Amino acid sequence: MTTVYKHEPFTDFSKEENRKAFEAALENVNKVMGKEYPLVINGERITTKSQIVSYNPANKDEIVGKVGKATQEHAEMAIQAADKAFQTWRYWNPEERANILFRAAAIIRRKKHDFSALLVKEAGKPWNEADADTAEAIDFLEYYGRQMIELAKGKPVNSRDGEINKYVYTPTGVTVVIPPWNFLFAIMAGTTVAPIVTGNTVVLKPASATPVIAAEFVEVLEEAGLPKGVVNFVPGSGAEVGDYLVDHPKTSIITFTGSREVGTRIFERAAKVQEGQQHLKRVIAEMGGKDTVVVDKDADLELAAQSIFASAFGFAGQKCSAGSRAVIHEDVYDQVLQRVVEITEQKITGNPEKFETYMGPVIDQASYDKIMEYIQIGKEEGRLMSGGKGDDVKGYFIEPTIFADLDPNARLMQEEIFGPVVAFAKAKNFDEMLEIANNTEYGLTGALITRNRHYIERAKQEFHVGNLYFNRNCTGAIVGYHPFGGFKMSGTDSKAGGPDYLALHMQAKTISEML
Ligand code: GLU
Repeated sequence: MTTVYKHEPFTDFSKEENRKAFEAALENVNKVMGKEYPLVINGERITTKSQIVSYNPANKDEIVGKVGKATQEHAEMAIQAADKAFQTWRYWNPEERANILFRAAAIIRRKKHDFSALLVKEAGKPWNEADADTAEAIDFLEYYGRQMIELAKGKPVNSRDGEINKYVYTPTGVTVVIPPWNFLFAIMAGTTVAPIVTGNTVVLKPASATPVIAAEFVEVLEEAGLPKGVVNFVPGSGAEVGDYLVDHPKTSIITFTGSREVGTRIFERAAKVQEGQQHLKRVIAEMGGKDTVVVDKDADLELAAQSIFASAFGFAGQKCSAGSRAVIHEDVYDQVLQRVVEITEQKITGNPEKFETYMGPVIDQASYDKIMEYIQIGKEEGRLMSGGKGDDVKGYFIEPTIFADLDPNARLMQEEIFGPVVAFAKAKNFDEMLEIANNTEYGLTGALITRNRHYIERAKQEFHVGNLYFNRNCTGAIVGYHPFGGFKMSGTDSKAGGPDYLALHMQAKTISEML
């Protein structure tokens, strides 16, 4: 693969032919609703009695698919299979491993809308969000494949007379992959292929809300030529299978994306050296965010309002990058707030299968209940400007909700809600804006909307987030362009889609040969 990496373009749905193609894909995917998927261990299909059922969050009666539910015995078999496959896979030519990723990207690209349509069904994503999720999955394959080819060359080190020194990267071992449901395709695929392209083997435990796309992806990898045992597919509960995989003495790396609560639990458990374990485990964790869009008085106010809106309500705020707080200079506060309310109230929400829908449902009952509780808290802590209602009769629908006049330390300003709720706070000057922006335990993304060059320079130093954006929204990082990951309790700042990511899955080896 010699071409230069470029991100996969998004589909232009203003073109009728693209809309028609997407509608056809939604029709197609209707035909496979309810399909059953077994576990895959060492290339073998294992059907289990109990199953995890994936429901359409926009239509609770619709079953998207059913996947096998692994027990601890299955988890053990999967670890053993991954460990065995590692003994040969680790010595594969890195370019051949990368070629499997390129082939998988081509397979997905050919059926792109079918995959995106499945994401509409399984996660309730509106079209453009589903399309972006599939594009990002392709990007991870294309980007990590190329990165591996580079990394395989090693890094230069010095050699003295009479010696040849080399510094090379070698694989690590069995990697447990626990992806999230929000970027059910992209992050699941990215966190699975990063370990495999670097020569590790994988036990993949998909998110229980969205296991069908993961099962489909395992099939894509097989079709692309991945040998058996390199990826083992074991959906299961966190308590039964998750902990078992994390604790296993043969596990080398755990790569997790999800809540702060589960991430810190994994981090702690992984630190304990188990009997028979001959290495220290590594954890790659991408956890929560409480991200802020900051608006200075000297800003393009329309851009500010659009940025706040897009950051808060894209995929119903179910992104750890979501801009769930807006901190606005007091001189322009009312104006920006009013405009965000206006923009929000013009948008159509509801059925994500319709092209016009801007925002669909939230993922499940537990999320719905939690978000509705936060809306209650918001009514006590702030002033409700828009939305505030929910309806979980058919699916898990919550209105895009805007609260004004929050104290910077209010719960709505501090806790991750992971839903379509944005909290506004007023600030007197730039110092105060920065102080509020930095006042949470998280440090994932942030945006500053301003024309003031001096403030931009200050924010580069003093706005402590892993992904800092100027004059745009704070979501939508693109693989290879905006490496993604956060500071503080947002995780290990592992920067998915960035130049350092693959090396996290490898151990560097120094080789010194005397002549
Ligand atoms: N990478 C995504 C973005 O930039 C967010 C990922 C996540 O929510 O986990 O919006």
